[in-house]
Amino acid sequence: MKRPTKAETALRQQVVDTVRRMNALGVNQGTSGNASVRHGDGMLITPSGMPYEAMEAADVVFVRLSDGEYEARDGLKPSSEWRFHRDILAARADLSAVVHTHGRAVTTLACLHQDIPAFHYMVAVAGGDTIRCAPYALFGTQELSDNALKALEGRKACLLANHGMIACDVSLEKALALAVEVETLADTYWRCLQVTRPAILNGAQMAAVLEKFKTYGKREA
Ligand code: 13P
Ligand code: ZN
Repeated sequence: MKRPTKAETALRQQVVDTVRRMNALGVNQGTSGNASVRHGDGMLITPSGMPYEAMEAADVVFVRLSDGEYEARDGLKPSSEWRFHRDILAARADLSAVVHTHGRAVTTLACLHQDIPAFHYMVAVAGGDTIRCAPYALFGTQELSDNALKALEGRKACLLANHGMIACDVSLEKALALAVEVETLADTYWRCLQVTRPAILNGAQMAAVLEKFKTYGKREA
């Protein structure tokens, strides 16, 4: 393995910081979940099954997008979910980072095979008027990746049935922020369902939110 540049080492450290933060923020736990970021003709992704406190920048694995060939130290393997990370980054030029979590609220809905409908305007942060739940497939399989990519069409996040969720964006920081947002939405939706079915915003209402999001948080030119 050739020596990484300073910029690559910093990006590797960002991958480690992202998975540590997702546990610290309470949107994931243990060695569940994983994260990746685009790098050159491939991606940098967390190694499989390693506790995040013990993970170092040098443990992060490089996987080439074209063929899945990887470079790892000390017999480490890329995350078992490298396929959906690879397939998302290969198919979606609009996305550069992927965060996968097993948060409590998203997983609750995912176990119920529930899409998150437009019960709250913030559902639009994922890009549309629902956050879809991809059908169940065994973890680490091409079938799971295919299901996830379909559920992510026109979206930056989806649930994975009986499993968890995926959030993607242009950077690790933004993908993690989206993961926190989706966990919060799932938590609120699940609470609403304890009482009754919440009121759902209509297509025109959500279209107005999506339009307003185009300039939200952006500085005046
Ligand atoms: P890895 O430790 O292989 O990344 O697996 C965790 C996980 O969430 C599998 O879906
Ligand atoms: Zn998982």
